[in-house]
Amino acid sequence: MAELKLSETRDLTRIERIGAHSHIRGLGLDSAMEARPSSEGMVGQHSARRAAGVIVQMIRDGRIAGRAVLLAGQPGTGKTAIAMAMAKSLGQETPFAMMSGSELYSLEVSKTEALMQAFRKAIGVRIKEEAEVIEGEVVELQIDRPAAGGAPAATKTGKLTMKTTEMEAAYEIGGKLIEALSRAKVQSGDVITMDKAAGKVTKLGRSFNRSRDYDAIGASTKFVQCPDGELQKRKEVVHCVTLHEIDVINSRTQGFLALFTGDTGEIRAEVRDQIDSKVAEWKEEGKAEIAPGVLFIDEVHMLDIECFSFLNRALENEMAPILVVATNRGITTIRGTNYKSPHGIPIDFLDRLLIISTQPFTEGEIRKILDIRCDEEGVDMSEDAKVLLTKIVTETSLRYAIQLITAAALACQKRKGKVVEMEDISRVYMLFLDVKRSAQYLMEYQNQYMFSEEVKQVEEDD
Ligand code: ATP
Repeated sequence: MAELKLSETRDLTRIERIGAHSHIRGLGLDSAMEARPSSEGMVGQHSARRAAGVIVQMIRDGRIAGRAVLLAGQPGTGKTAIAMAMAKSLGQETPFAMMSGSELYSLEVSKTEALMQAFRKAIGVRIKEEAEVIEGEVVELQIDRPAAGGAPAATKTGKLTMKTTEMEAAYEIGGKLIEALSRAKVQSGDVITMDKAAGKVTKLGRSFNRSRDYDAIGASTKFVQCPDGELQKRKEVVHCVTLHEIDVINSRTQGFLALFTGDTGEIRAEVRDQIDSKVAEWKEEGKAEIAPGVLFIDEVHMLDIECFSFLNRALENEMAPILVVATNRGITTIRGTNYKSPHGIPIDFLDRLLIISTQPFTEGEIRKILDIRCDEEGVDMSEDAKVLLTKIVTETSLRYAIQLITAAALACQKRKGKVVEMEDISRVYMLFLDVKRSAQYLMEYQNQYMFSEEVKQVEEDD
């Protein structure tokens, strides 16, 4: 295979408008990993948030690969919200791929190919490249000077800034540099300028540990001898891409554009094998690091037995990401079989999951979430209206009530009001049915709907 092509791309799904979860900015944990009552947009669900925090920590430490976590709980208890919060806490550097179980059936590629692509979207590769520093560019060097003797290492504390041209000058000056630096007592954090011709350091600092500091600077900067005898400074640049991006770029003639259209088609197994061995080679040579991220599959009960068996095997791979799945189903049929199982998940797969359960919210927590959502959507709502909306949640669902916020704000605008009042909430509550009322309406009037006979027949068959 020719040189692997790389490109820097951004995951467009991360760009969010005011969506259902846009108020979620993290898990809202304190430094002791305890859940704050309300923080970073997160309310309640203390133990689920703490457990998610432990997983995030394990991912950050890079200690786990191929683990799977199940978020289980009733509808609207915040499973997706917790997964989003995990993504936010992990930051942009950690790949986070998200899909719903039902998506697998609407794609043009096979289910297992779609799952494979999702897996590889969640595996990051950090590729290190050496870039030349152009002449005159300011290079930062960091000297770590051990308190009690020992050789200084050029890493963390303090910054010594000098221009590459001056570094070159320093090299030309050769041995004289050590003396010059030593005389000038240059310290970490000082900016020095040198007189190339005279070999003099003209801007002074404080103490400099003679040759050992000089060695440390030398060790931290990779100087290469160019054919013409010039010395140039090289610095490291890190590209972060996902395995999926490398796959796509190398498998289609249109290259990276397929990443934007999503029309990647099936990627041949040989291409993936070649990429895996190339990446393994880079890893071996210290040019690349594998960063397993997170793959979140919502509505996991929509997967069928073939998908579960694929996941079982895929998780065994040493590069596997952390798999987080969520479901709101109880004991139900495993798709593609006649067997029932908890959450519609086969027992052997269930057995490898760490299960985090979410609980229904208290009235106080619901009220707090509604407050946060009003702020997020920029809606001013009276106290009475909020009390009514909280009551609506207990009768219907949190998601339904959240959707009423914007609708009520529009009703308020229509009557030229500034603050959403109870009348606005009542108005939109009457305009839009929740699931319970809609089902009730259907029961009463189903005879007048088309195909109601067939529906009845289907129900009887069930
Ligand atoms: P389903 O089972 O139907 O998929 P879910 O458990 O995934 O539901 P979410 O969609 O996460 O529920 O939650 C419903 C709404 O409530 C979302 O807008 C979500 O952002 C918000 N929400 C859920 N949990 C919390 C929380 N702990 N703090 C703040 N907002 C929350």
